[in-house]
Amino acid sequence: MLKIGCHLSSSKGYLAMGKEAVKIGANTFQFFTRNPRGGKAKDLDLEDVAAYRAFAKEQGLFPILAHAPYTLNACAADEGLRTFAKETMADDLSRLEHLPGSMYNFHPGSHVKQGAEVGIALIAQALNEVLRPEQSTTVLLETMAGKGSEVGRSFEELRAILEQVELSDKLGVCLDTCHVSDGGYDLVNDLDGVLAEFDKVIGLSRLKAIHLNDSMNPLGSHKDRHQKLGEGALGLEALTRVVNHPALRDLPFYLETPNDLDGYAKEIALMKEAYRD
Ligand code: FE
Ligand code: FE
Ligand code: ZN
Repeated sequence: MLKIGCHLSSSKGYLAMGKEAVKIGANTFQFFTRNPRGGKAKDLDLEDVAAYRAFAKEQGLFPILAHAPYTLNACAADEGLRTFAKETMADDLSRLEHLPGSMYNFHPGSHVKQGAEVGIALIAQALNEVLRPEQSTTVLLETMAGKGSEVGRSFEELRAILEQVELSDKLGVCLDTCHVSDGGYDLVNDLDGVLAEFDKVIGLSRLKAIHLNDSMNPLGSHKDRHQKLGEGALGLEALTRVVNHPALRDLPFYLETPNDLDGYAKEIALMKEAYRD
């Protein structure tokens, strides 16, 4: 069975997200742990969490993917910003222990003129401070489009981070199809080749989730503008091959396309239709 969902607003709490997911035909979902621009998270409503867990069990909504605020920069040149990133991640991870076995995705960061090597070392250092041996959450590094000085624009950069983290069994990778295409990996004409490259450089066993997006821009554009499925550079045929690929088909897929809930429901139905059971 295809595991698919989309990004949902977390403003009304976990149970509301779970119900929304089911309503649009999803069996998993992604959400921001707090305002995506950063800032303080609301106090965790433990009653809501308990109600959500019962609902999720009944509906088979598992695992879910939490997304860190995209403004966090674990490799900022400014120490205060790095500390903020680490404190936010540690706080998010401690809250996620109320939803055992979840995944937590984050953008590795932007090195801003320090160079990728320094960026990679700072990101690994942050993870070494934040990860705990007892945590049940898997932390995912997202493949990035390579906009500006983003770290994670190539599989090699992600591997370099993984290599420098001690508790690397807590780490995985989330592959974003828009970002990877913008980063220059040809998912349309050479999906097998891209996945072979991923396997060689990182190892497919690290791949835990897919952000399923079309891209407004051509291969290698380094732009990061998501498009509705079938309306961008990737197209429906290539995205259909992605969800059916033997190396990917059992992973959870998350839409982050420019859509309202109706639009998401249609894309979920479309991909379920395209999935070969
Ligand atoms: Fe992201
Ligand atoms: Fe993404
Ligand atoms: Zn993106």
